[in-house]
Amino acid sequence: MAGTPIPLIAGNWKMNMVHSKGMGLATGIAEGLDPIGMIPVDVAICPPLTLAAELGAFLAATRIVVGAQDCSPLEEGAHTGDVSANMLKNAGVGCCIVGHSERRADHGEDDILVNAKARAVLATGMTAIICIGETESQRDAGETIDVVTKQLAGSVPDEALNTNTVIAYEPVWAIGTGKTPTLEEIGEVHGKIRALLYDRFDYDGAAIRILYGGSVNADNAHDILRVENVNGALVGGASLDSEAFLKIIRDCPAPPIPGS
Ligand code: PEP
Repeated sequence: MAGTPIPLIAGNWKMNMVHSKGMGLATGIAEGLDPIGMIPVDVAICPPLTLAAELGAFLAATRIVVGAQDCSPLEEGAHTGDVSANMLKNAGVGCCIVGHSERRADHGEDDILVNAKARAVLATGMTAIICIGETESQRDAGETIDVVTKQLAGSVPDEALNTNTVIAYEPVWAIGTGKTPTLEEIGEVHGKIRALLYDRFDYDGAAIRILYGGSVNADNAHDILRVENVNGALVGGASLDSEAFLKIIRDCPAPPIPGS
C-alpha cells in the first residue's frame, strides 16, 4: 500500500468574489500561508472563471494552485458559453472540479457527462477533482453507499491516477447547511470509497486523495481531517474568509514519522 497522501485543502469560491474582493482574499491567503512554510499540505483555490487567469499569474510564485469549478467535455468549436479544459490550462489553471452537486442539480449533469469532463481535464495534464455524494433523502433511505458506489464507478475515468485525480465526497445535504455527518459516518463512506478505488486502480487507488466536503469550517476541520481515509477537504463557505481557510490548512495532521 502507498503511504499517507499529502492532504489537499481546496477552496471553492463558487459564484462569489468580484475582482477587488477576490484579489484581496487571495492576497490574505497567500500572505498567511508564508509562515506555514514547509507544512506538507497542498492548497488550491477555485475562483470564478473571471478571476482564474489573473489569479493564476498572481499566485504562480506561491504554493497555491488555482483551480476551475467546471469545464466543457469538448475540445473546441461552436459551443457558446463553454470553456474547454485546454483553455483553462492555458490560463494558468492547475486543477478543475467536475461533477459538483450544484452542477449536477442546476444543469442536470450525470455521471457520463462528469466522466467525459474528467477525461478532458486529465488529457490536458491538469488534476480533476471529481465530486460525488448522496442527497438527504438518499441518506434517509439508507442508500448512501449504493449512491456513492454508482457515482464513483460512473464518474471516474479509467485514466485516473493518484497524481491526476482527487475524489471529493460531498453529501449534498451538508453543503452550505452547517450540517455534517458524524465522524463515524464520514469514515464509513471514505473507507468504502478507498476500497472501491483500490479494487479498481490498485496502487494508485490506495493513494488517490479523498477529500471530505460539506460545511467544513475552522471549528470542525481538526477532527474531520483526522478521520481515516480523509485526505483533505473541499471547502465552500469557509474558503471565503482567509482566517478560517488558513486555520483549516493549519489543522491538517502532521505526516507520520518515517519508520513509525
Ligand atoms: C462545496 O460547495 O463544495 C462545499 C463544500 O460548500 P460548503 O463548505 O459551503 O458546505
